[in-house]
Order: sequence, then C-alpha cells, then structure tokens
Amino acid sequence: MRIIVLGAGLAGVSTAWYLCAAGHEVTVVDRCDGPAMETSFANGGQISVSHPEPWSNPRTPGLVMKWLGKSDAPLLFRFRADRRQWMWGMAFLRECSPWRSHTNTLHIARLAKFSRDELVKLRQQLNLQYDQQTRGILHTFFTEQDYAQAEPHANLLAELGIRSEVATAEQCRQIEPALHGSRATLMGGLFAPEDETGDAHLFTQQLATACAEAGVTFRYGTQIDRFDARQGRLLGVSITDASGTRGALVADAYVVTLGSYSRALVRPLGERLPIYPVKGYSVTLPAGAGAPRVSITDESRRIVVSRMGDRVRIAGTAELNGYDLSIPRERTMPLLNRALELFPELGEVALAQSWAGLRPMTPSNVPIIGAGHLQGLYYNTGHGSLGWTMACGSARVLADVMTYGKSPIDIPLWRK
Ligand SMILES: Cc1cc2nc3c(=O)[nH]c(=O)nc-3n(C[C@H](O)[C@H](O)[C@H](O)COP(=O)(O)OP(=O)(O)OC[C@H]3O[C@@H](n4cnc5c(N)ncnc54)[C@H](O)[C@@H]3O)c2cc1C
Repeated sequence: MRIIVLGAGLAGVSTAWYLCAAGHEVTVVDRCDGPAMETSFANGGQISVSHPEPWSNPRTPGLVMKWLGKSDAPLLFRFRADRRQWMWGMAFLRECSPWRSHTNTLHIARLAKFSRDELVKLRQQLNLQYDQQTRGILHTFFTEQDYAQAEPHANLLAELGIRSEVATAEQCRQIEPALHGSRATLMGGLFAPEDETGDAHLFTQQLATACAEAGVTFRYGTQIDRFDARQGRLLGVSITDASGTRGALVADAYVVTLGSYSRALVRPLGERLPIYPVKGYSVTLPAGAGAPRVSITDESRRIVVSRMGDRVRIAGTAELNGYDLSIPRERTMPLLNRALELFPELGEVALAQSWAGLRPMTPSNVPIIGAGHLQGLYYNTGHGSLGWTMACGSARVLADVMTYGKSPIDIPLWRK
C-alpha cells in the first residue's frame, strides 16, 4: 500500500518505521523542518512502564480541588470559555471511577510493556544511540501519606507483571547516591529496575534517518491543511509547502499522528477524537557533580528528573489552557527550585533552557489506535503523558492492524 503518515513526532516516525518494515511505501509529512520538533522535543525522557495508572484515577478530583487557583500547582485547570475543554473535563471525571481507572491501567500496562520490548529490539537492530540509560526509575515519596501508596502500588505492578521493589529512604540513597545531598526529607521510594530513560528527540531523529535509508520519504516544512473527501470517500490531503505552494497528496491510506492537532484535522470528516492538549514544561541544563544518574519521579510534587548524557532534565506540570505555548517563569521556576532542593549540585542553572509542550491527552490516557470511519483513514494518536513509553508498541500495533488485520496484543482499538 502507499501510505501517508501525517506528523513526524514520536508517533509518526515510529509508525513509519513499522509500516515500512511491513513492506509498505511510506511518506511522512510534517510542518516542521525535522522530526520531533513539537511535543516529542524535550519531554521527561522516561520509559515509565512502572507508571501505568492514568491521571484520571479516584484520587485526582480531590487533588484538583486542592490545587485550584495555585499558580505552582502540578495540575492546573485554567477555565476558558471553551466548550471542548469542559466536555473533555467531564469525560476525564467519568474515567476517574475506580472501575474505569483500573481497566485503563490494565490496557496501558499491557501496551507499555510491549512497547518497551519493541524499543529494546529496535535499539539493538538499528544501533540507536539517544543518551539512553537502563538504570531504572526511582519513584520517591516525601510525606508519610504518599509513601503509604508505595506498597499497594508495588502489589498492583506485581499483578501486572511489572517488577518493582519498595525501598526505605536509606535504600533509595543507595540506589541514587545523589539523594544524600537532598534538603527535602525523603520517606522512601519504589524502584522499578527495568524502566529506562532517553532523549526522545534524539531517538526520533535517528529513527527517521533509519526510515529514510529504508526508503521512507519525508516532506518537512509542509503544512497539512485538510482532508479532501467526497461522498464518504477520502480523495487525498491538501497541503501547503514551505514556499507557499498548495498541492494535494494521494495515497491508499492515511495515518493521523498529529498529536494535539489530530482532532481538528478529522473533525470536518465527522470524527470526534476525544483529545485535549495538556500543557507541560521542562527545564534542561548541563549536569553538575550532584546530578542523579537514576531517573527520579518525585511522586509528592509530580515532577521527573532524568539524566541525558551530560545533561539533566526536569519535567512536569499539567495545565489545561488550550493551545497556548508560552513559558511563564512562574510555571518553570517551581520545577527547577524543587529539583535544586532534591539535588543542590544539580547543574549549571545559568544555562538552563525551558520548554513547553502539549500532551495529546485522551480522558483515559489510553491512546487512539486503529481505523477511522472512512476507508483508508487510520489513527495512532492521543498518547498523552506516556507517548514516549508507548511509542514503539503503538506503532507496531497499528502497522500489524493495517497489514494483517489484527493486533499483536490485546488492547482496545479505535472503533470504526
Ligand atoms: C512536559 C512533558 C513531559 C513528558 N514526559 C514524558 C515522559 O517522561 N515519558 C513519556 O512516555 N511521555 C512523556 N510525555 C508525553 C510525550 O512527549 C507525548 O505523548 C508525545 O511526544 C506525543 O507524540 P506525538 O507524535 O503524538 O505528537 P507530536 O510530537 O506533537 O507530533 C505531532 C507532529 O504533527 C505535526 N503537525 C501537527 N499539525 C500539523 C499540521 N497541520 N500540518 C503539518 N504537521 C502538523 C507537528 O509538527 C508534530 O511534529 C511528556 C510530555 C510533556 C509535555
């Protein structure tokens, strides 16, 4: 089949790889000048199989109320006159019920485990180097109440076949000696030794190079304007290239991997994708002598600190504020200050670079993978807070569905 993949982020480039490997003729289209320049550019870097629980869980509504109006809140609702934001918020609340949250956790865990296995295979096959680390993730807790969650969380992970160990504060410091300098009082942790980290931008760049060598065509600097459809049939996709020239691209099938912008493109076709942009920030700086080597998730403040070669990155916060991509200091400074509290010798603060990205979030955090309602229309989008963790597995699932008509693992596929 001739297939056009719309979007060259983590989802698009990994989809292109698996489709090309299955023998298809693939073209990738993106408005940026290279791969992974938007949400996949500077994320937290965690392949976090040990965090399959979606944000929509029974504890979240209480936390949202507690944090309402606080400018440094980990989860911030900026209420807008935006019907979509309210509808999405309602759907999110529905997913917070214990039963739905548990079911979503099972789906995410299955996909995340499969995805990590696919990533390891791909890394070995293509010798990809992206500042990856296979030292695990240490989830840390700084209040008794938070630490009380460690044991039940470890039990849940064990049921899901995901390895983890509850750790005392002293054991945490043995796992990550840089915690010895912490000014915050550590209660304990949960260590997931099989989790990984890496730079998603570097990964996507390298995979795009491998794709090009394998025959995939990339059209960067190309704006995707709309789908052309008549009488329920897709005829092509209208584009504008970097010189402003308009044109159309035609294929046998089209895969939408446009992250937070997926919904708008297919809405005129009558498809309603439940995706809303959830903004997050990261700060990256040259690592100092006291920077951690093991990736840390501070469960009490909802931030991650990941080592990427000679850099260290702090990432976090979730903000519902439309498509705004501004980077206010009042949102990034709490991230940096907290990381400095944990690791006073973290790095060269004067050289810190801040970034913001829009997580393409579904209310359940289960991604949208599968066929749309028009012939030739497919999706691999809506990966929310775990788009790097689930990238390779989701792409492999979609490629198998498009090629062989079935998924290699049991996860819910998007309905036609
Ligand atoms: C602060 C933060 C921290 C995160 N940390 C982690 C983490 O530690 N682990 C994890 O697993 N996940 C993490 N994520 C989530 C992860 O980064 C995302 O889920 C993932 O990057 C989404 O990839 P994508 O390819 O779907 O979207 P994108 O990377 O946004 O790709 C979409 C592409 O579509 C293109 N595009 C859009 N519209 C058009 C158009 N009209 N025409 C042409 N091109 C278009 C864009 O240019 C872009 O390249 C984090 C996210 C954030 C914001």
